Amino acid sequence: MFGRARRQDPDDAVAAVLQETVFHETAHAVVDALDVRTTGREEDFADRFAALMLLRQGAADERRLRAAGAWNLLAATAENADGDTEDEHSPDRERAVSAFCHLYGSAPGRPQDLVRPDVLPLARARGCAEERAAVRDTWLKTLGPALREG
Ligand SMILES: [Zn+2]
Repeated sequence: MFGRARRQDPDDAVAAVLQETVFHETAHAVVDALDVRTTGREEDFADRFAALMLLRQGAADERRLRAAGAWNLLAATAENADGDTEDEHSPDRERAVSAFCHLYGSAPGRPQDLVRPDVLPLARARGCAEERAAVRDTWLKTLGPALREG
């Protein structure tokens, strides 16, 4: 999909999506191992953990989270997108907006290129700093006891 979308760096983008997937699945493992009670859908909880983990180290991480969001955006426009009613994840478009929101809310400069109706709608962007802080606090609270044991 990245190749067809004429991305300049499709291999890097695919690597970013794989990394995001590993973090997402790690979140499920953490939920299981620590017997975490998630509020809301566990898949969204896992997506937020992945976004948090992807954005730990600066500009390169920002590129990776952008790629992960772009992947969901591409998936949402692909043929038969979200045709699978058995899918437990949020719709691809929603997952993309959440990833971009996390990125927007984390970046001190608030990357304005993300604020577009087809990427991150302005109404959602306004709450992204608070949303990102809440995600971070929730995960720190969730992992806190385990981190102290280590
Ligand atoms: Zn999952």
